[in-house]
Amino acid sequence: MNKKKHIFTFFLSVIFFTYWLFPAGESSATTLKDIPPQYETELNYLISKGIITGYPGGEFRPNQPVTRAQAATMVGRALELDGTNRQTPFTDVALGYFASGYITSAYEKGIILGDGKGNFRPEGQLTRLEMAYIIVRAFNLNDVSSVNYVDMPANAEQSAAINKVTTAGITNGAPGNLFKPNNSITRVEFSLMLARALNDDFKVNKEPKETDKSEQPKVPQQPEQSTPSTAVTKVVTASFLNVRSGPGTNYNVVTVLKNGTEVQVTGKTGNWYSINLNGKIAYVSANYIADKPVQKEPVQNEPPAQNKPPVQNGNERIIAVDAGHGDHDPGAVGNGLEEKDITLDVAKRLERYLTNGGYKVIMTRSDDTFVELDDRVKFAEDNGADIFISIHVNSFDKTSANGTETYYYNGGSKTTESKQLATFMQTRLVEALETRDRGVKTAGYRVIKANPRPATLVELAFISNSSDAEKLGSETYRDKAAYALYLGVQDYYKWLDK
Ligand SMILES: [Zn+2]
Repeated sequence: MNKKKHIFTFFLSVIFFTYWLFPAGESSATTLKDIPPQYETELNYLISKGIITGYPGGEFRPNQPVTRAQAATMVGRALELDGTNRQTPFTDVALGYFASGYITSAYEKGIILGDGKGNFRPEGQLTRLEMAYIIVRAFNLNDVSSVNYVDMPANAEQSAAINKVTTAGITNGAPGNLFKPNNSITRVEFSLMLARALNDDFKVNKEPKETDKSEQPKVPQQPEQSTPSTAVTKVVTASFLNVRSGPGTNYNVVTVLKNGTEVQVTGKTGNWYSINLNGKIAYVSANYIADKPVQKEPVQNEPPAQNKPPVQNGNERIIAVDAGHGDHDPGAVGNGLEEKDITLDVAKRLERYLTNGGYKVIMTRSDDTFVELDDRVKFAEDNGADIFISIHVNSFDKTSANGTETYYYNGGSKTTESKQLATFMQTRLVEALETRDRGVKTAGYRVIKANPRPATLVELAFISNSSDAEKLGSETYRDKAAYALYLGVQDYYKWLDK
């Protein structure tokens, strides 16, 4: 897309988005005409927070179905996710689409998923079951109790989601002890669930529990007072970096910073930097923060780095994607799964994300065939691959071993690049899969050791661990893994182009 057209599309989308947020004729937030009086408190609460808005003419239209794009937008506003329009991982959601930012943010956080084939169906109606899934993921609901609707789905994962939203006091189903999982959810139903998720005062069937206080989310520990004079200016290297209320991915995201944003780092807790965010302390993963680069002399005839598409020397960047094992070599086996199938599926999904993102992808195998390790490296070499990503899953005798780890070879000519690539992959995978972070490690695995290009080998999770294996067996998690690897590639080139 040329730049002018790009800017034009951007402004069009800003106009459209602004209109959608603040429809004409809506003079004040609390003038929506058709709000059902019994839900006035909940709905006005959401209106006051800017989470729901009306249609032109000041209508709320309570009984209209919610589309998946609207749902992503409302949840995104509720969680204060980044709503900036941008390229999405879905073929049916264009950058200029009003909800492209919130859809991408919600997808990155694993709150809303696509269909596993690259589609989001933004205009599709949201079912009550889908809403349950979204609320469970968005608000990290884990508690279950004895919940049994007449029409509870037989599928364990589906009934668990319905159980969790009910247990959390976010819904009590429909009359007749029904949940109606496949019905479209209406704007008023959606809004009520969101209000209850956000504010305990609105919960239904709320039973006072002794443990209420102790179950409050942990208050992030404040680091020792650091004076502003000790703050160091650093820059964000990820495309979008989550800023959290505490030093860990279990803390809430308070805002998102874009690539290149300068931050004032005041201290370090583990692998997390504390930063000064408008006078308050917030936290960011140290993996995506770098020292402020020294300003380079602009090279003639070269566009500034920020505008550079993922190309190198005028050519497409070539990514070698290596699905581990194949054919008579199943790799690790466990919990009814074989490594070779998982690695191939993730590799194919990664291939699609990378291709959509403008990269050229070469696959060491794209079906159930056996390729020798040295031939995988040679294939990358012969095709001029820029980087090499080998996908594997882990296994161990002790079934309790679990988590994600990523390897690079320490000793090759591209050790610095390989380590950086591995680090980006690891961080993205752990965040997406919600697995234990076993860290970035070094090893002399053939496909990375023999490789003269930056190379990494990811061990997505343990096939021998039941909880990890559940994720490896799930299409949605394999898609999340692929998207995480894609984001890792993006992070890597952002870093490299600095
Ligand atoms: Zn393997």
